[in-house]
Amino acid sequence: MVAARSLSRFQGDPLNILFATSECAPWVKTGGLGDVSAALPQALAGLGHDVRVLMPAYGALADLKAQARDWTPWPADAGWPAARLGRVTRPGQFDLWLLDCPALFADAGGPYQDTAGRDHAHNARRFAFLARVAAHIAAGAVPAIAKVWRADVLHCNDWPTALAPAWLRVTDAASRVPSVVTIHNLAYQGLFPMGVADALALPPSWATVEGAEFWGQLSYLKAGLVHADAITTVSPTYAREIRTEAFGCGLDGLLRAREAHLSGILNGIDAAQWDPSTDTLIAARYDADGWRAGKLANRRALRQAMGLPGQRRGLLFGVVSRLASQKGIDLIVDSLPWLIANDCQLAVLGSGDAVLQQRLQAAAAAHPAHVAVRIGFDETLAHLIEAGADAFLMPSRYEPCGLNQMYSQRYGTPPVVHGTGGLADSVDDFVAAGPDAATGFVMPEATVPALQAAMAQALLVAKQPAVWEALCRRGMARDFGWDASARAYVALYEGLIAKR
Ligand code: ADP
Repeated sequence: MVAARSLSRFQGDPLNILFATSECAPWVKTGGLGDVSAALPQALAGLGHDVRVLMPAYGALADLKAQARDWTPWPADAGWPAARLGRVTRPGQFDLWLLDCPALFADAGGPYQDTAGRDHAHNARRFAFLARVAAHIAAGAVPAIAKVWRADVLHCNDWPTALAPAWLRVTDAASRVPSVVTIHNLAYQGLFPMGVADALALPPSWATVEGAEFWGQLSYLKAGLVHADAITTVSPTYAREIRTEAFGCGLDGLLRAREAHLSGILNGIDAAQWDPSTDTLIAARYDADGWRAGKLANRRALRQAMGLPGQRRGLLFGVVSRLASQKGIDLIVDSLPWLIANDCQLAVLGSGDAVLQQRLQAAAAAHPAHVAVRIGFDETLAHLIEAGADAFLMPSRYEPCGLNQMYSQRYGTPPVVHGTGGLADSVDDFVAAGPDAATGFVMPEATVPALQAAMAQALLVAKQPAVWEALCRRGMARDFGWDASARAYVALYEGLIAKR
């Protein structure tokens, strides 16, 4: 079938995909968005598509910037600073386009915050510019790029690039190139004072409630949700949840109005990086057949690394998480008396909320035989916890997709999760699915009693070694790779292109 937008393009032909993002692992990562922004483009490239990931050349990316070639100058215009766009070519993988604009992106610290944890003062301007550049490239409005590469689709991610579909409407009135916005977490919306709209000279219609106005503020995410041709989120259950008041963060009405264009595609994991049979960050490598010995060696190493004694009657539960109310960390802290009474242990790696941090550290100081806590970001320890814990806790209040529950299944470490979002879509509960199909334990609600009941269930099952081992090995056999999800995105892009 000939796609409507071009007589020379056939359905199934490789696509040119412009993937705009504020983070991309391993170079920039504050959470799941960074992982997805590397793994999905990689999977799409693996299917033969030409994927260009557009990301700012932040101050911390000097080494990466040094690898960029083919610099395209970006002249100052309409009050925006001059910049340049460099290409990092990675044969067989996706290419990177680095947006180098020292006037906006040179700050020290992370992509959104300075080294003291304060939002960068000019975030509104930085990410409006990133989105504008994405829209201009997608629209073919940059002659030096358009003569060698034209996007078939523009894929944006979360609020930092969500203005791009709106910019695209302004730049490309004929709307040649379809746009997709993926919501990785609806709670982060990119809200700025309404005055920003004037300062950025945004079209006046954007400042209305039909545009990007949200309770008196300017919402970058809302602009994207209004203007994108398709909205996706990172699991089918979260796609349903965000249309309800309880999960909609004030945007549920808009999402219901656009539900015909909203779908959920479950994230995959980087199956090469998170593979216990090849993982060099853990103490002993193992596959499903070697699960018992592998678990034993890694559990010993984890206890040693975290200063926990061995020989407990109960289970060693692991946690790797941002310390935030979203993640239900307070439920875990409130369950510590139960955990200790049942002679279980808890190994936590995380950073974030200062109060949660203090509560965890106080518990570790008071109960050193049962609780160990490491504050910080530590990739090696994260892998060791996945491999060395008996079970993994993730009682998130909401979870758009979540990755750790998939990693833990891959490592033969059954997750205990709240049945929300991607957790509901990727863990099969011991009771609901039955002992022959389960891969973990699913709490019906995010409460302390539900968490304790799920952990008690895990303890009970663990007392039957054959049933427990089968549960662990079943999780290890699950396919959480990106291939199926990447194909679902391609089908979505193809559908949008065919409609043009
Ligand atoms: P979110 O994006 O909401 O933080 P996800 O589960 O989707 O949660 O992804 C979190 C990612 O960050 C995972 O790869 C997880 O292993 C990693 N991670 C989170 N906290 C830490 C930490 N303290 N140290 C190492 N890795 C971490």
